[in-house]
Amino acid sequence: MAKVLIVGAGGVGQVVTHKCAQVPEVFSDIVLASRTLAKCERIAAQLDRPIAVAQVDADDRAAMTALLERERPDLVINVALPYQDLPIMDACLAAGVHYLDTANYEPPEEAKFEYSWQWAYQDRFRDRGLIALLGSGFDPGVTNVYTAYIRKHLLDEIHELDIIDCNAGDHGQPFATNFNPEINIREVTAEGRYWREGAWLSTPPLSHRRRFDFPEGIGTRQIYLMYHEELESLVKHFPEIRRARFWMTFSDNYLKHLEVLRNVGMTRIDPVMYEGREIIPLKFLKALLPDPASLGPLTKGRTCIGCLARGLKDGAERVVYLYNICDHEACYREVQSQAISYTTGVPAMIGAKQILTGTWRGPGVFNLEQFDPDPFMADLNRHGLPWTIQDVAQGLD
Ligand code: NDP
Repeated sequence: MAKVLIVGAGGVGQVVTHKCAQVPEVFSDIVLASRTLAKCERIAAQLDRPIAVAQVDADDRAAMTALLERERPDLVINVALPYQDLPIMDACLAAGVHYLDTANYEPPEEAKFEYSWQWAYQDRFRDRGLIALLGSGFDPGVTNVYTAYIRKHLLDEIHELDIIDCNAGDHGQPFATNFNPEINIREVTAEGRYWREGAWLSTPPLSHRRRFDFPEGIGTRQIYLMYHEELESLVKHFPEIRRARFWMTFSDNYLKHLEVLRNVGMTRIDPVMYEGREIIPLKFLKALLPDPASLGPLTKGRTCIGCLARGLKDGAERVVYLYNICDHEACYREVQSQAISYTTGVPAMIGAKQILTGTWRGPGVFNLEQFDPDPFMADLNRHGLPWTIQDVAQGLD
């Protein structure tokens, strides 16, 4: 029996709140706090049990700390934006509360994805007897747990790891992002980066692509090499990995719009003077694009996210593919959200459950692959994200 405080009433926050509400034996008290109170109230009205709601600007450390001191939760689930990670971690330290998020901190003025800022909190969380669990979404999150599971049960050594994220769904909109548009576009327009033989190699944004045949009828799609934050923690915690890459599918339509937006400067994150005041073009673009939470009733099709790993088992080469398939319409029927928010929100709840039940113990700052993957994997099957293992003939070259 524990009290959880969820920060962020967006697409992911809605799913986390629903999923925590479905597990009252762990999450006996739920508070949903966000910048816009009406969004918390809208989500609370969808549930069949009462929760508390609160307004907070999580950038304001003092206000966030005061909220935690007033509510006294056991854990904060941060599903606001990456910019809020550090102020919320500071507030958790001040108030003595465990912390969990789904995306690494990014400084607003630079699209830079790395764990250094949050790993630097290691001593402070350890000394305070608290856990901070970083990146408990799907990717990062489940992909980290999949890798740990592969290493524990399927391969004695992982030599090559390819994380492959496919959204084969369609929302029928000319251009929309599946999660926060500002964060999504910062990520997609960044340089590609992958790990090979102990060094990071860079590629121009979305310049490197190939085809991949997805299982269960999804079929062949174009996948694009990108940098994704879990690569950094996975090669740190599994130093035997010789090559680690991350791939994502994009429709031709998405890429066409993105190219034009980039060419005309609408994806810039530096301030531009407009009619006597500074605006940031990407923030303005976000205001024009559909709210990802509004895509729930419109999106059809499935996602398929998984890890393809090549390595050694009992001295022989083995290639395994561990994946989940998630159906957008089934997610909407359950929690009124599309599958991208669902595949992020469910693992956030499951990570919180591991901490609150004492299954995963600290103290300190952790990525998910540092813990025993088995209880988390069992909970994925139990709470809506079942997984499949396939032996495959060969990995990606
Ligand atoms: P949304 O934009 O839909 O929701 C973000 C919410 O955070 C909004 O309700 C917003 O409030 C609130 N918020 C923003 N700033 C503040 C603040 N200063 N104080 C309090 N609340 C604030 O985003 P998503 O739900 O799509 O994404 C949420 C997080 O999940 C992001 O960090 C994203 O990177 C991460 N993510 C992780 C994935 C993974 O697999 N690991 C995949 C997808 C997303 P308001 O409505 O007032 O603007």
